[in-house]
Amino acid sequence: MTQRFSFEVEARDGRARKGVISTPRGEIRTPAFMPVGTAATVKAMMPESVCATGADILLGNTYHLMLRPTAERIAGLGGLHKFMNWDRPILTDSGGFQVMSLASLRKLTEEGVRFASHIDGSKHMLSPERSMEIQKLLGSDIVMCFDECPALPATDAEVAKSMALSMRWAQRSRDAFGDRPGHALFGIQQGGVTKDLRAESAEALRAIEFDGYAVGGLAVGEGQEAMFGVLDYAPDMLPEDKPRYLMGVGKPDDIVGAVERGIDMMDCVLPSRSGRTGQGWTRHGQVNMRNARHKDDPRPLDEACGCPACRNYSRAYLHHVIKADEIIGSMLLTWHNLHYYQDLMAGLRDAISTGALAGFVADFHAKRAGGDIEQL
Ligand SMILES: [Zn+2]
Repeated sequence: MTQRFSFEVEARDGRARKGVISTPRGEIRTPAFMPVGTAATVKAMMPESVCATGADILLGNTYHLMLRPTAERIAGLGGLHKFMNWDRPILTDSGGFQVMSLASLRKLTEEGVRFASHIDGSKHMLSPERSMEIQKLLGSDIVMCFDECPALPATDAEVAKSMALSMRWAQRSRDAFGDRPGHALFGIQQGGVTKDLRAESAEALRAIEFDGYAVGGLAVGEGQEAMFGVLDYAPDMLPEDKPRYLMGVGKPDDIVGAVERGIDMMDCVLPSRSGRTGQGWTRHGQVNMRNARHKDDPRPLDEACGCPACRNYSRAYLHHVIKADEIIGSMLLTWHNLHYYQDLMAGLRDAISTGALAGFVADFHAKRAGGDIEQL
């Protein structure tokens, strides 16, 4: 097995790429979807089950883990992989996004962000240096630069100022990360929905040099059309021979559109979060399993799906356990949703490698437009 981090593009179809990221902890097939394991767990899933859905990598959240149980405690217990019993690659975010969305009493300065924990009000500081230290303590395979993401809508001047700060923090992140063979550091492009700012950000990141590049600052409420508008040009500003990661995306049709535009990696809480609220994602779109129409339905949620929820249980059973707030309802629907997302990624990879992406995407949209199977 390789001792270094590398990326190879194996096939292209239009702007879409199929490839593989190699790390000492295993390979990541791209385009890749990363389930989110916020607090050292993908909620309602055993790590073995996450693995069985076909996930090569998962995401951990620096902000949550630094507060509880703390990065130092996890390091003392052998690192995040051992702690949560997941031996494949882990990507950690920098904490920057969540400190802005979850913490209170935030104070942003050139140095970093001071804030109070949303759990117990305790005072903390996150800076590029501290974020790199935490992600190293966790033992993360792919480390993200500490950046600032302004909420949209924002004025061009606000976005430009924030982007410039993020680029100074990117350099500090690079310096603090140091030389760690086998571990990767990704830079994050900012610039909102403004092309010139995106170009300026990409140029700054390319000068620093990273192992991969994220398109940041999207999926923050700008809407799919605006997001695709940025993805029509932003990925092409980033180095061709490095992985490109779209943070926090998304719904299945967001993912398909992003892959068509040259994105290699994505993450989102959606499949796991919606699994806990009774929402199933299938080839036919979103299905609300709380709906009474499933009450007497002996058919699987999706007959084409190979996951345990679809192989062994009926819609009627899923409806019952969700309505009764039984824990297995969250477990089964989360498993199905993660399985569906990984099936979608495998389908995209196959289509790209055979030059059949356009047909795959047309079929994807046609099936969704048809809606869920008819009520019995
Ligand atoms: Zn299923």
